[in-house]
Amino acid sequence: MAWYPGAEKMELQPESDAQPAIVPTQVIFHSIAAPWTPRRMYEYWRDSTNLESHFGVGYDGTVGQFIGTQTRADANYRANRRADGTGAVSVESASNDRHTDPWTDAQLAALVALGAWLHRQHGIPVRVCRSTDDPGFGYHRLFPDWSDSGTACPGDARVGQFHDVVLPGIAALVSGGGTGTPLPPPRAGDAPARYRVTVNGLEYGYGAHGPQVQEVGEALVASGHGSHYTAGPDEEWRDADTLNYREYQRSLGYTGSDADGVPGEDSLRRLLGRLPSPRRVSLAHVVAAARTDPGAEQGHRTYGGEVRIVEQALADEGFLEQRWVDGSLGTRTVQAYAAFQRSLGYSGTDANGIPGQRSLRELGQRRGFDVTD
Ligand SMILES: [Zn+2]
Repeated sequence: MAWYPGAEKMELQPESDAQPAIVPTQVIFHSIAAPWTPRRMYEYWRDSTNLESHFGVGYDGTVGQFIGTQTRADANYRANRRADGTGAVSVESASNDRHTDPWTDAQLAALVALGAWLHRQHGIPVRVCRSTDDPGFGYHRLFPDWSDSGTACPGDARVGQFHDVVLPGIAALVSGGGTGTPLPPPRAGDAPARYRVTVNGLEYGYGAHGPQVQEVGEALVASGHGSHYTAGPDEEWRDADTLNYREYQRSLGYTGSDADGVPGEDSLRRLLGRLPSPRRVSLAHVVAAARTDPGAEQGHRTYGGEVRIVEQALADEGFLEQRWVDGSLGTRTVQAYAAFQRSLGYSGTDANGIPGQRSLRELGQRRGFDVTD
């Protein structure tokens, strides 16, 4: 039954005695859509609704605690208490009635100090939760599982402060480097970065051009980080791409220069499931060659450039003699590909020597080529 020494204790009953114990592994921040003091929040939960939080933070930075942090609170839907007994510590905060205003400096200082205490008290790691039950810090709308019908809480301004001020402030405080009164980040730090990097032979960042740029843009949209596009993503890397990529990096928990909107190998891999390469092989082309070349006249070449890439990879893996690397996907190459498929554990028609997407991607990842449909 942990009570925060920085809060006024206003114990809610019957919740405090009646609700089950939790092992707190997460902290979730909210805006209450009302300009209330902690006392008024307490009265609201006592008299009107049972969706209480553990803590409430007023505009002036005063903190109230309503139930102990090892007792379940009910504001976070499936994160309240999971089957394994872990659950979230819930932190409400005063806001305007549409929860669109930023936290005040006093609220920011209070949230940082509270976050540092929760880290020390319960070992909650100072990072963004990476999944719905991953230990760390988050905000109400971060995962759908944390609200029963969707929510915008705590609002865009506070989500930005969460990443830019609250989490860095907690990190500085627990490492002994901070005073507990975080400063807002300089505005210049918000200008989109304008430089390019080369990852696995392809360029990304402001001014980069090519199909790899469009692929990243489409993956950002699909992962919910497309809000800065006014027109759909295309093959030109513009500021909107950088801003969307920055949001995606922040969602991974990256901070500082690691979250400047210019891709690195790790974030690209996590976004796309693989690293694109300038050596591209179309699965459809290779399959067409595998169906055409063996029955055609000796040395027939369908899509010979792409076939040669696949053959060289099979040779490098030890399944094909180098002298058969000739750009013609003939009988020997089909046999070599079938042997490669068997080495992956495939059998029957899955090991018939006709490339499939999974086996070709595996070969590409091992030998540095990219597979398109
Ligand atoms: Zn909320």
